[in-house]
Amino acid sequence: MTMALFDLSGKVAVVTGGNGGIGLGISRGFAQAGARVVLAARNDEKSHRALRQLEQDGAEALTLSVDVGDESSVEDMMRSTVDHFGRLDILVNNAGMNIRKMAQELTLPEWSKVLEVNLTGAFLCSRAAYPRMKTAGGGKIINIGSMLSIFGASFAPAYGASKGGIVQLTKSLASAWAPDGIQVNAILPGWIDTDLTRQGRKDIPTLHENVLRRTPAGRWGTALDCSGTAIFLGAAASDFVTGAAIPVDGGFSIQA
Ligand code: NDP
Repeated sequence: MTMALFDLSGKVAVVTGGNGGIGLGISRGFAQAGARVVLAARNDEKSHRALRQLEQDGAEALTLSVDVGDESSVEDMMRSTVDHFGRLDILVNNAGMNIRKMAQELTLPEWSKVLEVNLTGAFLCSRAAYPRMKTAGGGKIINIGSMLSIFGASFAPAYGASKGGIVQLTKSLASAWAPDGIQVNAILPGWIDTDLTRQGRKDIPTLHENVLRRTPAGRWGTALDCSGTAIFLGAAASDFVTGAAIPVDGGFSIQA
């Protein structure tokens, strides 16, 4: 009984940005829970490396090229997923980027790019997933927010706006698609050790120590730390949970 609640056997999951960092951690968790996984990102070489890693774990997976900010690329990716695996049950909107600059130095193309990938990308992928999930009789959408869905940061105005927007998009889609049996929730990761934050630690020399000091758990998160919550949100265990934003942050967001 308990196992069935968290069992993803027979389910097909698309993870955008699934070829590295948090997305790969979630993909590995899904595969362990029995799902077939589509790693959807731009860099094919990186995607193939991630695929080999999943296959070594015994998973059934597929790589697809996508730019989440491009409407026709997203549509092609969803069509190929269903052509290959026959269905779509879970979408993780994880693809994301940051440009670390103060607002007064941020150009319009930089602002637009961050919003396009982090927020518009989640909208486009969710909209393309909707009819396929309806056909499957329901589905699960998991959006990846951030601590900057909650807090402000001087060096990340576009990123913060996109991640605040993700939480509100989550609520709108959750309320719209609940009658179709589609639950839409967000995970708000704390500071996780990935390519993204490795660059951040280069850009901001005090970041590493500040994160350790500011996080009650006293450590950076690992790429696998978000996978348990993602399995919960992708499985029957969360069928009456929708529109929620769950921090996975070692206590960062509750520390005064
Ligand atoms: P990574 O940079 O390791 O992963 C980002 C992934 O997104 C890459 O695999 C990249 O693959 C993909 N990607 C980027 N742009 C696009 C695009 N236009 N179309 C498709 N795929 C794209 O970072 P993380 O794993 O850290 O980040 C994953 C998510 O988690 C992001 O949304 C990030 O904002 C969020 N997050 C991360 C935190 C952290 O501490 N690390 C904290 C809070 C949130 P490719 O280059 O091949 O396209």
